[in-house]
Amino acid sequence: MNQLETIRAKKGFICDMDGVIYHGRNLLPGAKEFVNWLQQEKKQYLFLTNNSQITREELSRRLQRMGLEVDPLHFYTAALSTASFLYSQQPGASVYVIGDAGLSNALYGAGFVMNDLDPDFVVLGETRSYSYEKVEKAINLVRAGARLIATNPDLAGPHEGGLFPGCGALAAPIELASGRKAYFLGKPNPLMIRHALLCLECPREEAVFIGDQMDTDIIAGVNSDIDTILVLSGITAREDLARFAYRPKYVLGGVGEIAPGA
Ligand SMILES: [Mg+2]
Repeated sequence: MNQLETIRAKKGFICDMDGVIYHGRNLLPGAKEFVNWLQQEKKQYLFLTNNSQITREELSRRLQRMGLEVDPLHFYTAALSTASFLYSQQPGASVYVIGDAGLSNALYGAGFVMNDLDPDFVVLGETRSYSYEKVEKAINLVRAGARLIATNPDLAGPHEGGLFPGCGALAAPIELASGRKAYFLGKPNPLMIRHALLCLECPREEAVFIGDQMDTDIIAGVNSDIDTILVLSGITAREDLARFAYRPKYVLGGVGEIAPGA
């Protein structure tokens, strides 16, 4: 089998979204053909994002606006990975949350209760409702013994031609003032890929992870011992590979190449 045939024979496809399926509000060339192919071939597939602000339903709507019909169950966010991790650590624990609906829904869904007096965990995600008061509260709860958890380590992300501060940047003031380090979920934490494989119910040998970024996507795949595909449709150019000590298993121009005839 050649490289593309080997990829097409995989049963499970885990895909990053930004730079793989779309960029900003636009689908990338070949993305529609790729998703159609996944659906026609009845592949198991999951779209991953480090975004913890929005829910699976909202992600499904977002793709629908770009012309793709994908059921909410085919999405997996850093918020869901965080909820799954916390469930493995302490089911039924109480949490103080700085974050948006994507995060609070995931935590409620996993049976956690909100508590701003003496929570077991302080859980931080990306949110525009970040404030001095919430940071102050979080610092004191952490100092009193709550464990500091953050949905993803990204320092910044793209937003309408500029940047927004990512969860990693929002966690820094709490870490610095409390003197405690946060534990970060989301990519590049390989737990995100392991959780995704559990959702797919697909053995890792039969799955592949597709991403556009070496130091978040590809390293998460490598650390999970799953085959990886780097697509050059996003943040990484072929010449960037030389800067890294690890390599993806495959390199493609974009996901469209996987769909025969696209
Ligand atoms: Mg990406």
